[in-house]
Amino acid sequence: NDFEDYFLKRELLMGIYEKGFEKPSPIQEESIPIALTGVDILARAKNGTGKTAAFCIPALEKIDQEKNVIQVVILVPTRELALQTSQVCKELGKHLKVQVMVTTGGTSLKDDIMRLYQPVHLLVGTPGRILDLAKKDICVLKDCSMLIMDEADKLLSSEFQPSIGQLIRFLPANRQILLFSATFPVTVKDFMDRYLRKPFIINL
Ligand code: AMP
Repeated sequence: NDFEDYFLKRELLMGIYEKGFEKPSPIQEESIPIALTGVDILARAKNGTGKTAAFCIPALEKIDQEKNVIQVVILVPTRELALQTSQVCKELGKHLKVQVMVTTGGTSLKDDIMRLYQPVHLLVGTPGRILDLAKKDICVLKDCSMLIMDEADKLLSSEFQPSIGQLIRFLPANRQILLFSATFPVTVKDFMDRYLRKPFIINL
């Protein structure tokens, strides 16, 4: 398979090739075409497999740059991972006009509020802060049709778990969930049973 096979926007394909990716990795080969069809995904994949691009590429492809609303949320367990993930989105989306914002606990809420006055298409962050902003109606998620959870085993084994359940209620009914996890503990299985709709399972 080649990245051209997915009929991605030309600007996105340029970003992929400029990053030095020549061919999709196995996880990308499985997840990109399926994610583009709108199906929920549960992927068991470790770090180093190319999983970040496996969800960032379909996310960037699906964003309508003409609509200045949050269309994708990527939940991660730590600020460090949020920054790394947003960097990958920015690099892959270098030739797109997609606005990426990072928001996590432990930083100024006021700065986030100011930033959210400007267009944001893709929000990367930790669940607590995003829920806080959604509850305050500062971050509007009603047009966010894609929710991505990276390191879901960590997200769901921590203090974040209740926030995630609450956060999902701010999303539209037609939302798509892409869940990536290194392991498949009962917390992830329970989440899958409750929130994912006929998920496509990727097991690498
Ligand atoms: P990740 O598993 O997302 O942490 O990615 C691990 C490493 O693989 C990162 O340095 C990526 O830039 C790189 N990578 C991801 N996808 C590809 C690809 N299709 N071709 C070459 N390198 C890749």
